[in-house]
Amino acid sequence: MKLAHLVEPGSKLKLRDIDPRDKGPFDDKQDSKIAELSAKLNARLCTLQERLFAEQKRGVLVVLQAMDTGGKDGVLRHVVGPLDSRGVMVQSFKAPNSEELAHDYLWRVHQHTPKKGQMVFFNRSHYEDVLVVRVLGLQPKDVWSKRFDQINDFERMLTAEGTRVVKVFLHISRAEQKQRLEERLKDPDKRWKFEAGDLEMRALWDEFQGAYEDALSRTSTREAPWYVVPADRKWFRDLAVAKILVDLLEDMDPRYPEPHLDLGKLVVPD
Ligand code: ATP
Ligand code: MG
Repeated sequence: MKLAHLVEPGSKLKLRDIDPRDKGPFDDKQDSKIAELSAKLNARLCTLQERLFAEQKRGVLVVLQAMDTGGKDGVLRHVVGPLDSRGVMVQSFKAPNSEELAHDYLWRVHQHTPKKGQMVFFNRSHYEDVLVVRVLGLQPKDVWSKRFDQINDFERMLTAEGTRVVKVFLHISRAEQKQRLEERLKDPDKRWKFEAGDLEMRALWDEFQGAYEDALSRTSTREAPWYVVPADRKWFRDLAVAKILVDLLEDMDPRYPEPHLDLGKLVVPD
């Protein structure tokens, strides 16, 4: 069953063609199939992640990108939260500090790529350097436009060295963002999340969508594909992300290591 949209390498993505309200084969939120599938995927994800950690041979890097209020934190809470924290790390990338700005843009990112056995989730990532940097004009075109190839090279290197890379764009509609920002303004429990800059960014909605279309089209590769996840419905978003991760780990097929002792001969004393 396909829930998310793979950006075919070499194709030109049009976000308008993907409905953010898509709910796949499900009727509505009450659909009992949803709860069933969600429980099944989460359990499978936990098992596979434990195996990846036990195996200690390969890493997984999951890049999460979205427009503001797109639901990155929700995915991290619902899908990533239940995983075994020994083998999982979440790394958030804010606007770079002066030390980071004094280096190349991949410097701060590379330090947080997974070690063997680890799954690392990037909450924003090096993609900001071809998104917000482009839209706000923080670097000239001749600088950011070279970054698509550089990013592909970087991710190809990670893959060749034993890290699987998968990238997820949470796709919300403009109307849904309006609603979520209004909630942040009205709901006393959500007000703390609101930042004045959120409205300035919203005004650049079309520019960001265009920058996302270019970035995803240019950097979706066989070894490090992009998936677009319809994300107006939070339950569908979480299901779709869990499915992407389960499919990836099933493909990797991590194995528990062989015991290095002859366990059959050992006896636990009384
Ligand atoms: P929330 O949904 O809770 O607001 P967030 O991911 O938006 O979470 P913020 O602290 O609000 O977190 O935003 C981080 C900001 O850092 C974003 O506006 C993003 O565009 C900016 N940022 C990230 N990387 C870069 C970069 N390389 N250059 C410039 N700005 C960046
Ligand atoms: Mg924000």
